[in-house]
Amino acid sequence: MITFSPEAIYIEEGAENYALSKSVLERFPEVPTTKNACRKTVLNEINETKADPFGASKKVLFLSKFEGSFLKKCPGISPGMVCCNYYIVNLTSNCIYDCSYCILQDFLENNPVLQAFVNLEDVLSELETVFATYPERTFRVGTGEIADSLALDDVIPHTDLLVPFFNRQKNAVLELKTKSACVNNLLKHDPKNVVISWSINPAEIVDSEEKGTASLDARIKAAKLCQENGFKVGFHFDPIIIFPGWETAYKELTDTLFNNLRIEDIEWISLGSFRYRSNLKKVIKQRHPETILFNSEHVPSEDGKFRYLRPIRNKAYDTIRNHIRERAENMGVYLCMETKEVWETVTGKLPRSDKKLDQFFDL
Ligand code: SF4
Repeated sequence: MITFSPEAIYIEEGAENYALSKSVLERFPEVPTTKNACRKTVLNEINETKADPFGASKKVLFLSKFEGSFLKKCPGISPGMVCCNYYIVNLTSNCIYDCSYCILQDFLENNPVLQAFVNLEDVLSELETVFATYPERTFRVGTGEIADSLALDDVIPHTDLLVPFFNRQKNAVLELKTKSACVNNLLKHDPKNVVISWSINPAEIVDSEEKGTASLDARIKAAKLCQENGFKVGFHFDPIIIFPGWETAYKELTDTLFNNLRIEDIEWISLGSFRYRSNLKKVIKQRHPETILFNSEHVPSEDGKFRYLRPIRNKAYDTIRNHIRERAENMGVYLCMETKEVWETVTGKLPRSDKKLDQFFDL
């Protein structure tokens, strides 16, 4: 796992007096810092001087104040897809890691500068109002849509404010989604309303396709540590990648997981297959020429994203779900960004009929 030290720090006007900005500057006194910076100027400079602007944008840190509404619904709510009513708060934009399949290469194509928002007080105030307005709902809120939730937590400890805040809520759960092993900061907090989830893949995929992330072994050790400290944990087998030997590899992955963790204290496991918009393929081929992602055929779904053919996805979900159920009969297993047809074929039902998951769909 890489340790992040930015090559340059930029602070937008109005962001310098926040506690998080000050702590970043104290942590990196040697790093060149520009105050009153403009993101467009930083981006233009990167575009003009770097061969791989997207990769170079991950090596600087831009601190800014987010303006607007933080809370939004997960884009799972796209045409033809079943949505699991997940909400997102974006506190960071872009990621220090460099997974070959990362959608941010497309999604943030025009705005890739690694950016962290420092006005957490405003986030918490907005969330408090929304949770109080709908006391009958259970909100499941994640911070890992356009960033890894914990990769930067040693540098910008968002969790120091988020976790105590969520622990005070009666109707909200915070999900921190990561491919890191950065949990030391978390462990000092009460685990009450927090679920930490790891995206996992067989070790050969982690090593070849998930550059800079924590190894599978390190992720599982971090998850174990969190469980031992009372945190709920979840896992995302996502993106599932089909390669020669995938069935054995995913069986071994399931066994490794269950051999190391207390099964009854795993909150859920989600399954999602590799998917991409057509523009992303071009970027992946250019930035990660050695990838195995395109060794199989993909077809467009109703939402415009390319996926493995439906029978292949069904087989992969079915196989992995069976491995999971052999060891953990009552495990809540759900599909991410999948069609109604695939949900029904694999699980025999739609998510609203699963009691354990219902609390999160009941919105
Ligand atoms: S960890 Fe997630 S956000 Fe970061 S590069 Fe990998 S896929 Fe992208």
